[in-house]
Amino acid sequence: MREFRDTIPIRNGADWVMSRNSQHKGMSIWSLIGTILSLSLGLPPDGTQGAEGPSHLDAHLRAQPPGALVRPLGTEDPGTIPKGLEPVPEGALTTALLAQNLHSRLLRVGIASNGWITAGLVKLQVGDKQSELISIRDLQQDVARVITTAFATVPDLAHLDCWATVPGEREFTEYHRPVLSVSVTREEVADLLGSSADPAPLLARCGCVRVDDLLLRYAIDAPDAVGVRQLFGEALQGPSLQDRWTEFGAQARPSGELDNLPREGPVSAIVEGDPASARVALTIDDGPHPLTTPLMLDVLRRWGVHATFFLVGENAEQFPELVRLIARDGHEIGNHTYSHISLTELNPRGVWTQLRGCDQAIEAASGVKPRLMRPPGGDCSELALRVTDHLGYETALWTANSGDWRNHNREAIVANGLSHMRPGSIILMHQGDLWSLDALPYILQGIRQAGLEVGTVSDVVGGDPVARWEPAELVALAKRAHTDPYEQGRRSDG
Ligand SMILES: [Zn+2]
Repeated sequence: MREFRDTIPIRNGADWVMSRNSQHKGMSIWSLIGTILSLSLGLPPDGTQGAEGPSHLDAHLRAQPPGALVRPLGTEDPGTIPKGLEPVPEGALTTALLAQNLHSRLLRVGIASNGWITAGLVKLQVGDKQSELISIRDLQQDVARVITTAFATVPDLAHLDCWATVPGEREFTEYHRPVLSVSVTREEVADLLGSSADPAPLLARCGCVRVDDLLLRYAIDAPDAVGVRQLFGEALQGPSLQDRWTEFGAQARPSGELDNLPREGPVSAIVEGDPASARVALTIDDGPHPLTTPLMLDVLRRWGVHATFFLVGENAEQFPELVRLIARDGHEIGNHTYSHISLTELNPRGVWTQLRGCDQAIEAASGVKPRLMRPPGGDCSELALRVTDHLGYETALWTANSGDWRNHNREAIVANGLSHMRPGSIILMHQGDLWSLDALPYILQGIRQAGLEVGTVSDVVGGDPVARWEPAELVALAKRAHTDPYEQGRRSDG
């Protein structure tokens, strides 16, 4: 019998382009130490790996931030501030920020526009460059400087996200783990932009500030949660789910939700909408993302349409303010697992942890409890489908894959998204890649030009009861739905 492994929070598949750009490609010394540690510790007897794999973050004492925490990932390469879609304001803002003598390191500057509004993203690495210590007061000051500098330097900037990161680790790959994220519009802080005094009033104005519990471990000037609350108000969250993964997963059996799991019989799934609905569902996966989500929401608002956003729990936890924006605009929110992991090799407890973990992040941010679940990459096993159904979700597939995470080309994304379109079609797009944003209005236009309306998955299903499918049939359908007609066409063209 095939051995199923339990789940660990590792993202796979169509990752954010920006995250990919910022990751180390090779194995670092820290990864090597992690590998040696895990080999010597061995794996638990049931084949599971620990909560988040060995992390160098945990190997250090509190209040002594390790060099690794303030060592930027990948910034040895001068090309690590990748260009987005608006190189001129990006260059101007980068220059202006570098002149600000920030304590933190500047990792990325991104400016993008959807043709109506301009949004920006600035990514910092926390920790003083000279002392290699983390001061929350310094970080506050840096974030306030980023906000005032960005709005002053980019005149038409409407929305800014600033996030500060520390090195995190997933399965021996380092990544930038956000420990502070601030989402702010120009209107929120317009009258404070000229003043350079205390950063606290400016940050208090930002509707959405989120601080990760992890900062507490290393901040030299805020030794406890009370201290951080005084600096950041109620923005502090409890420990991230990825930091208490094993403990969370252990609740699966006592919850009783996996009791009496059926071994056979059909499951609820949506593979296409009602042909009588005169609507096409637009689905946008993998968010929320601090640069593209505000811009995509603005496009959808201007078109007066709603879509279904299948959110990744880990991203929802890191950027809860964006989940609230999606919900506030009336879009449907679906579950896309906690860490965007393939469900095919997970045991029932692993599937439970991924699905309930994602729910928890979405619910904490927005109060929404998802009913729809889309398996990352469309990868599903019969077992995962049974668990999903047993937990009360409807598995939602798609009929047209825009291939936007692979084709960086508007023409291809639009052609794929609109291929074989008819009433009840379900189009798959992603966020996190600016090419998706670029193609979005053209997809909306194509749907309208065909005389159809844009809607959510629930809209195209209508009031009909969701169909029941044999899991084996769905696994085969999901594989077929994953193909990308544009790429296929090109292949057959030779
Ligand atoms: Zn996905």
